[in-house]
Amino acid sequence: MDYSVVVPVYDERENLEILLKSLTEVMDSLGKEYEIICVNDGSRDGSDEVLRDLKRKYGQLKVVEFEKNYGLTAALDAGFSMAKGDIVITIDADMQNDPRDIPKLLKEIGDYDVVCGVRSVRHDSWLRIVSSRIANYIRNKVTKENIIDVGCTLRAYKRKFLSKLKLFDGMHRFLPTLLKWEGAKVVEVEVTHHPRIYGKTKYGVWNRIFKAFIDLLAVVWMKKRKLNYKIKE
Ligand code: UDP
Ligand code: MG
Repeated sequence: MDYSVVVPVYDERENLEILLKSLTEVMDSLGKEYEIICVNDGSRDGSDEVLRDLKRKYGQLKVVEFEKNYGLTAALDAGFSMAKGDIVITIDADMQNDPRDIPKLLKEIGDYDVVCGVRSVRHDSWLRIVSSRIANYIRNKVTKENIIDVGCTLRAYKRKFLSKLKLFDGMHRFLPTLLKWEGAKVVEVEVTHHPRIYGKTKYGVWNRIFKAFIDLLAVVWMKKRKLNYKIKE
């Protein structure tokens, strides 16, 4: 298998059909073998039924159903463990990321191991944009990193690096950093971002700030304590 596209889904009923249409058009145009893995993270809006119908229409679609909402890191992790493709692509289900950017990411994956999208023109509320900028700045300062946009799900990864990760809740914000620790070469490329038309964002300012701060401390601790020994010849 060449490509696995992993899609985290939480209450995205209206977006799924539009996404599958656009995603399969793009992936078909690449002429390679691929699968699409939608991880339904405990949706309560009937996304499960929509996915069931779509599975009949799209043979490449696989669906993982969580018992309840476990969060974005868990959804990505479940997708990563099921993925068979040499390259794993992640994309949001809400059509804020554009599947038509995928070929652009794949162009870089030869030279790099992880290609991260950067939403240079972002279509979210000003409060979200400002709070993300501040959070990214602090995160980069504290972890001595230079990742412009940790919140963009649209990415391509060589799977052999993903399988080295042991993920914890909240770590989706630190994936580029964790992968660099595993020796991955990471690059960022600009991608388009659209306003959300259907459904609601799952993240506000206040439901992220405290948890993301604790997660940051955990990453600082891990970085300090990372085993880094070399054996004498
Ligand atoms: N999502 C998920 N589980 C969650 C929260 C979000 O699977 O607990 C999915 C959601 O359906 C979407 C993606 O993660 O596909 C990003 O979420 P959202 O669009 O709400 O985030 P934003 O774009 O506002 O940062
Ligand atoms: Mg979104």
